[in-house]
Amino acid sequence: MASLTWSTYLAPPKPVVAERLAPGETAELWSPTSATLIQGERDAVLVDALLTMSEGRALADWVAAAGRNLTTIYITHGHGDHFFGAAAVLARFPSARMVAVPAVLDKMRTQVDGQVLDGLWRKRFPGQIVERPPIADPLAGHTIELEGADLIAVELGHTDTDGTTALHVPSIGLVVAGDSVYNDVHLHLAESGGGGIGAWLAALDTIDALRPSTVIAGHKREGAADSPDHIRHTRDYLRYFDEAQQRVGSARELYDVMIEHYPDRFNRAVVWRAAQAVKN
Ligand SMILES: [Zn+2]
Repeated sequence: MASLTWSTYLAPPKPVVAERLAPGETAELWSPTSATLIQGERDAVLVDALLTMSEGRALADWVAAAGRNLTTIYITHGHGDHFFGAAAVLARFPSARMVAVPAVLDKMRTQVDGQVLDGLWRKRFPGQIVERPPIADPLAGHTIELEGADLIAVELGHTDTDGTTALHVPSIGLVVAGDSVYNDVHLHLAESGGGGIGAWLAALDTIDALRPSTVIAGHKREGAADSPDHIRHTRDYLRYFDEAQQRVGSARELYDVMIEHYPDRFNRAVVWRAAQAVKN
């Protein structure tokens, strides 16, 4: 069995056309977003594929530079910022297959529906989203084989959206976590009302039980280490938010409490959206 290696491409923060800016902010940025290449000696598997057309092209260049045959693009969860960019990668590697588990496919389909694609993504990123974002094929079973090693899709249920997964590579202690773990970036909690935080906490227990030595977050601060400690930091953040949302009255109070507790995490716009979602 080949010994696998991995590397991560991080798309830097990019401007968002915002409807409502967070209090005191003058511009909005999208959080830095990761894609991870797991490599054998000849073949490779890409996990997630970013958002915009230019990010997709840069990602395809980066994958090509690794000099491997790209067999598979695995999508961890159905948010557009993790797969719309796959169009450019598939154009460059036409024999690669994009796959996802059925729960992820369900969410992907909602993201390419006109209401979400035009009403949300194209408004935020005008002229930057591919005409027809590709949809994955269903992954048969939960395992992708890479030169004799197993890459295992772990179903997590609700984390920052419904029907999410992580990709676990037991032979190298790697978990590519998608948006189930955040690394020094504020958590997208706008979809976690009505028991969503409890489900997310349970998903973190599932990841913890895999005892990974490396955990790559879907959104991470540039240069931040891919430490399993971010499972715990994400859990602490969820508990703090849950406690705060029960204690305070308004969206603005919730926002202020979170910013005071986490003044240095990246992307306050995400907190503002979360606070408005749970308090309106
Ligand atoms: Zn995301």
